[in-house]
Amino acid sequence: MSGEAAETTVPAPGEATGAAQPTLDADGLVARLAPLYGMPVWRPHGDPLTELVLTVLSQNTSDANSGRAFMRLRARFPRWEELLTADLADIEEAIKIGGLGRLKAARLRSLLQEVVRRCGSLDVSFLRELPVGEARAWLEGLPGVGPKTAACVLLFALGKPALPVDTHVHRVAQRLGLVPRGMDAVRAQRRLESIVPPELMYPVHVLLIRHGRRLCRAQRPLCQGCPLLDACPHGKRQLGLAGA
Ligand code: SF4
Repeated sequence: MSGEAAETTVPAPGEATGAAQPTLDADGLVARLAPLYGMPVWRPHGDPLTELVLTVLSQNTSDANSGRAFMRLRARFPRWEELLTADLADIEEAIKIGGLGRLKAARLRSLLQEVVRRCGSLDVSFLRELPVGEARAWLEGLPGVGPKTAACVLLFALGKPALPVDTHVHRVAQRLGLVPRGMDAVRAQRRLESIVPPELMYPVHVLLIRHGRRLCRAQRPLCQGCPLLDACPHGKRQLGLAGA
């Protein structure tokens, strides 16, 4: 791991800055969780527009539902250009299985229209050549695209360092003291992106999600068998361990 990673520190719970006693850094997190869940391999797929569509469909629904909506949309409209002129009711019909069909159909349409207005086409491959900050700003300027959606495109499609914060990442990061309790997801994303080295953002993102699904569940986390327990203020409090 890099020297940058070795210097990464983590704030204690409730702290507003990273100046508190470090507990677990990104290297340590990956070293402890990868043996349990496997080491995630970062393979960016390079299609930012498809990632944008998929991420919009995933807003406020489960991965399973958004995946089904995406597959149906792709089958009904094999080329994304078709969404520019399609009847909104047809788009809604294709994606309604994912929930919020009417809202997301309109959101997809206006997003794609804005891309065409800016670029003259739906080709956004130029994003790959931009520095991460510029690519992020360009994406976040699109209608319906917030920090999490932009981060998904940057990380999964473009291979740029970003750390999307979903419900699992948000919960586990707070429990571990990686971000202060009560910090909203947008600020938590900024905080995590400032303390996790770029090359570890993908594994940290994936491992925190896997951990949130398997052991660090929203209700009744399985702290007793957690490999992070000795570094986790929330887990130690849960189990009444000294020094928590
Ligand atoms: S010790 Fe408990 S609260 Fe802490 S990360 Fe593990 S499962 Fe989550």
